[in-house]
Amino acid sequence: MIPYGKQNINEDDIQAVVKVLRSDFLTQGPVVPAFEAAVAEYCKAGFAVAVNSATSALHVACLALEVGPGDWVWTSPNTFAASANCALYCGAKVDFVDIDPATYNLDVACLTQKLAEAEELGRLPKVVIPVHFGGLSCDMAPIRELSRRYGFKIIEDASHGIGGRYRNRSIGCCEYSDITVFSFHPVKIITTGEGGMALTNDAGLAKRMARLRSHGITREPSEMTHAPDGPWYYQQIELGFNYRMTDVQAALGLSQLRRLDKFIERRHELAECYRQQLKGLPLTWQMENCHSALHLFVIRLQTEHCGISRLDLFNALRDAGIGVNVHYIPVHLQPYYRGLGFKLGDFPEAERYYRESITLPLFPDLTKNDIARVVGALAKCIHLP
Ligand SMILES: *Cc1c(COP(=O)(O)O)cnc(C)c1O
Repeated sequence: MIPYGKQNINEDDIQAVVKVLRSDFLTQGPVVPAFEAAVAEYCKAGFAVAVNSATSALHVACLALEVGPGDWVWTSPNTFAASANCALYCGAKVDFVDIDPATYNLDVACLTQKLAEAEELGRLPKVVIPVHFGGLSCDMAPIRELSRRYGFKIIEDASHGIGGRYRNRSIGCCEYSDITVFSFHPVKIITTGEGGMALTNDAGLAKRMARLRSHGITREPSEMTHAPDGPWYYQQIELGFNYRMTDVQAALGLSQLRRLDKFIERRHELAECYRQQLKGLPLTWQMENCHSALHLFVIRLQTEHCGISRLDLFNALRDAGIGVNVHYIPVHLQPYYRGLGFKLGDFPEAERYYRESITLPLFPDLTKNDIARVVGALAKCIHLP
């Protein structure tokens, strides 16, 4: 079975991990700060805080921005549940903004309209979490403008996005946001096994997120309620977690980061190959209005012209050994979110997109032969009228 995504691990990665295993520190050693510094430098962000997943990064990001009971957090329905769950962890309420049918990202026009309505109702969001679907940046400049006008903060969920660009800057530079979050899960662009990172240009937010990742404990005398009892002394000054990344993971991440640009280049080469071969079939793909990290290659079927349903096509491709997938089931339609009051029809563009989309395999080690096989299987199933 050709999977839809797969990590690329080479001998350098293995040696980097082995080196840490032979060293004094498996965690809380020098490699995590080195990985943080390298990602911050790559993205040209001021600060980076490594954690054990993007989910944890989203959680500490919300807490650092003081999200709590009574607050609203808005995100896209076309995302993984973690983008919304982070607000619920903090006791806040979640709402969604429908997507643009061409970019599959949060629609700035919908956001603009929803903000005007929310202002009337006195329920403006404290934080908006745009998700860079498939590694394609949302249109951040107008979202930043709206955040100034309505006073909300921005967390970019760039779990798909490391290596992507927007207006000639790297995703993660935080020029248009307060915090940007990356995921290093193996299906994402680079991996640490499990892992995530939060980037920011705000020293205070960075310090707060670093503290929350390790129990809310500080060793800085200036943050303590009284002078330290001695050199061993620390204080827990708020309620944090153990969300730390290990040095073993960071070593893998640091080694992977060296190949990041190559990975993105390869993803673009393969996506272009798909686009060439898919021409003429009754389907569309994500409009790229900036340099995507291309985490996903999704086709959107013009189902009325395909002569086969999405379900039957999906099953036929799986039967042909092609590990297609679907990204995403709209979050608001998950039973847990329906239990909060959301229902079918709330976000029609995300729902229509969901009914029509299939994610094709895309990862650096995919070959052009594999692509020919995928497209061949697709073309065989689609019956042009
Ligand atoms: C993968 C993913 C996450 C969660 O990442 P983890 O590192 O697995 O916690 C969050 N948001 C989006 C959009 C994702 O794709």
